[in-house]
Amino acid sequence: MYRKLDEILVSLRPQMVETLKRWVAIPSVKGEKTEGAPYGVEIRRCLDQALKDCADLGFEVENIGNHAGHADFGKGDDYEALAILAHLDVVPVGEGWTREPFNPVVEDGIMYGRGTSDDKGPAVAALYAMKAVKDLGIPLKRKVRLILGCDEESGWEDMRYYAQHATLPRSGFSPDADYPVINIEKGGMHISIEAELPTEGLQVLSFNTGERPNVVPGSAKAKIQDGADLLQKVDELSKKYGWKVSAQEEDGCVHIQTTGIPGHAAYPEATLNAIGMMLVILRDLGATGSLATLANTLGITYHGENMNASVEDGQSGKLTCNIGIIRVENNKLYALLDLRTPVLANHQEIFKAISASMPDCNLTLVSSRPPHVVPESSELVQKLLDAYHEVTGNEKKALAIGGGTYAKVLEEGVAFGASFPGDPEVAHQADEHIRLESLYKSMKIFALAIIKLCGQNEN
Ligand SMILES: [Zn+2]
Repeated sequence: MYRKLDEILVSLRPQMVETLKRWVAIPSVKGEKTEGAPYGVEIRRCLDQALKDCADLGFEVENIGNHAGHADFGKGDDYEALAILAHLDVVPVGEGWTREPFNPVVEDGIMYGRGTSDDKGPAVAALYAMKAVKDLGIPLKRKVRLILGCDEESGWEDMRYYAQHATLPRSGFSPDADYPVINIEKGGMHISIEAELPTEGLQVLSFNTGERPNVVPGSAKAKIQDGADLLQKVDELSKKYGWKVSAQEEDGCVHIQTTGIPGHAAYPEATLNAIGMMLVILRDLGATGSLATLANTLGITYHGENMNASVEDGQSGKLTCNIGIIRVENNKLYALLDLRTPVLANHQEIFKAISASMPDCNLTLVSSRPPHVVPESSELVQKLLDAYHEVTGNEKKALAIGGGTYAKVLEEGVAFGASFPGDPEVAHQADEHIRLESLYKSMKIFALAIIKLCGQNEN
């Protein structure tokens, strides 16, 4: 059977590449809402094109209020169908491209373009996996439903609409992250901090950095009252910590800038938080009170070590903590923390511990999101791992991550592909691309997954 499947998969490759080019050529970045186009006309155009292509391949398609669409393969109950959840919207182009973002070309077996990897490529691979299984003609015991969302990169409004106006299957996977399988997403907390600024010690006049709690800021600026030898002290501290810190005098004030390494709050290990750096520098220059408290508790630690909150568990790893926003003005301080918590963590206890570590600050638990867990022993995870292992020979291993995939829209949803271990991180970046060989591999992995999870003769 697998030889026949291989033949079919190989024969479908050129058509799959053409389909992907068509989808990538549509700049489906979120735009102004208009009649019949809740996320802008380009996303609507992409949804129409995608559903037309799905229908041309022989699948039953439905447009759900222009918020999302699906292509069904096989018969059966919608809720019990295997969902494959992908998205057609893309993030804005950004800077630094050396190729055309919406005029996809293949060079040396690599297709370049916004959305090739996140998430149109994986969506097309899943569609052609369905087509291959259909052509193979094996009987299915469950329906397969490819859901194409249109608002993944923004607010997931598409899935709220979909859940209200169509049947979201109970179980499935989203090819919008990494192999092997991501079956655990940590919980999340946002904590706000408010405090008075100290009247003693170094006077900080302004320190406003960060727009979003889930981003590790890569640079920060603060303005402080001038004092003796400040420029030289900043220089010494910069050398002491090995950090990029600069300072200059202007209008009787000193302007300090720290340059760190930006990144995502869920993965702080490889980052250097410029707000944390600045807090440490300000403390060492003589700031006291709440500023010193933040420097001592947060500083540039990422796992709650100095807040009595460094919890971890075997299945999902360590707590992470990011200070993403700080505002210091008019003798008041405001900050916002983004935490990702292990499955076994208790949010109330963590909040209490962090509050106790900052006695001169007022803390508020702004939001608390529970973790999303699909047991590794579940049939879904095991069969996906089997399919992955059969095609790649790679280790079967379920992963936990800090959060952010579409998969948790489904009760029993996991992320499955389509980036392979060792692939460069290209999503949301300039010159986003996908290797066609990887796409062909994913097509086969998804086809095997469908057969294992939905084939009548599989158990
Ligand atoms: Zn995505």
